[in-house]
Amino acid sequence: MAHELKSKVAIIGGGPAGCICAYFLQNNFEVTVFDKSTPLKTILPTGGGKCNLCHAEFDFKELASNYPRGEKFLYSAFSKFCTAETLNFFENIGIKTYIRDDMRVFPVSNSSADVREKFLNALKKVKFIKEEALRINEGFSVVTNMGAYKADYVVIAVGGHASYDLIKMLGHKIIQPKPALVGLKTQEDFSSLSGVSINGILFTHKGISGPEVYKISSLRARDNFPYKLTFDFIGDIDLQAELNKNPHKSIKNLLGEHVPKSFSEFCLCELNIIPDEKCHSIDGKTRDKILNKLRHFELTVIGTAPDGEVVTCGGVDLKEINPKTMESKLVPKIYFCGEVMDIDGFCGGFNLQNCWSTGFAAAQSLNFTLGG
Ligand SMILES: Cc1cc2nc3c(=O)[nH]c(=O)nc-3n(C[C@H](O)[C@H](O)[C@H](O)COP(=O)(O)OP(=O)(O)OC[C@H]3O[C@@H](n4cnc5c(N)ncnc54)[C@H](O)[C@@H]3O)c2cc1C
Repeated sequence: MAHELKSKVAIIGGGPAGCICAYFLQNNFEVTVFDKSTPLKTILPTGGGKCNLCHAEFDFKELASNYPRGEKFLYSAFSKFCTAETLNFFENIGIKTYIRDDMRVFPVSNSSADVREKFLNALKKVKFIKEEALRINEGFSVVTNMGAYKADYVVIAVGGHASYDLIKMLGHKIIQPKPALVGLKTQEDFSSLSGVSINGILFTHKGISGPEVYKISSLRARDNFPYKLTFDFIGDIDLQAELNKNPHKSIKNLLGEHVPKSFSEFCLCELNIIPDEKCHSIDGKTRDKILNKLRHFELTVIGTAPDGEVVTCGGVDLKEINPKTMESKLVPKIYFCGEVMDIDGFCGGFNLQNCWSTGFAAAQSLNFTLGG
């Protein structure tokens, strides 16, 4: 038998998206958040424990251009709740923020645990139930691993790492989830270069990582493996002039002025050139081979590595969600927000911004529906 649910809105998932939605609903509805784990636990590892809350881009279209999936869809939500509103929200719940030189916004405390605590304190009227939602029956009743609860509206905010079964049961199409903002495994063995970093590309035991690689993994998240990448590590230098100027220098040390020495040594060995060879003995053909290697450094990506922010490219098909209200186009009174949708952004606070904006948009349209 179904329990009588006091709440009218059931939010499935107490991550950043579900919780901000709950915040903006709690004065007008009885709100219950179902989370199989601990609410806002997923905010703890963000920004390396410091919580990169958002990005200091105040133009909503510019902001949206940082989402390989969801750019246009987000226009409406961003036009209602963008960076300024996000900063206001955090100020209102007692979290002061600062903007770093790279435009990333962090709490002054530099602590995601502090953000979590203050956020949960601001959700005093919200009821939390630690149960896993398994199914949403017509009408609605949210069926969990423990029982069934009635609700007038359901907001689905289960994130990108959950089972999509309960959404598929509603008839929604799921775009196949793939990891983005991750390291990449390569066919080539770069373990001897592990820890060496050039222009945001970090060599690892398994392949490559670092900010530039996360971006690439995001842009190419839908590509099949293997695929090739080519990097220019040296730019436009006049190598012949440098060779002429430094006849007694080793080629390894000369190149070491442009790239890390271990990397120059690695490339020279791959080309069967002795790293200690003096510059005067490098002929034109060898010079071109070196330049070609460093300007068109090619590698083959064979998979992803589980480091980085690890967001999900994929999720509920955006064609089936109203971008103004976040309501399902297939099942009225069901709403979505956050990473569960086929939306993902680059590193820099964009993924949390998706949660703040779409969580607010869902709450606003629900408030509007009830005249709240
Ligand atoms: C290591 C790491 C660092 C990151 N750092 C940043 C950062 O600094 N800035 C940034 O913008 N983004 C960052 N991100 C991304 C960001 O954390 C996510 O995009 C964001 O947490 C998504 O929020 P969400 O509420 O949509 O989903 P989630 O945070 O995944 O929350 C979903 C919640 O739903 C619950 N749940 C799932 N299924 C069910 C079910 N059936 N029943 C009940 N409960 C359920 C889960 O337990 C969870 O609590 C980072 C991600 C990772 C992994």
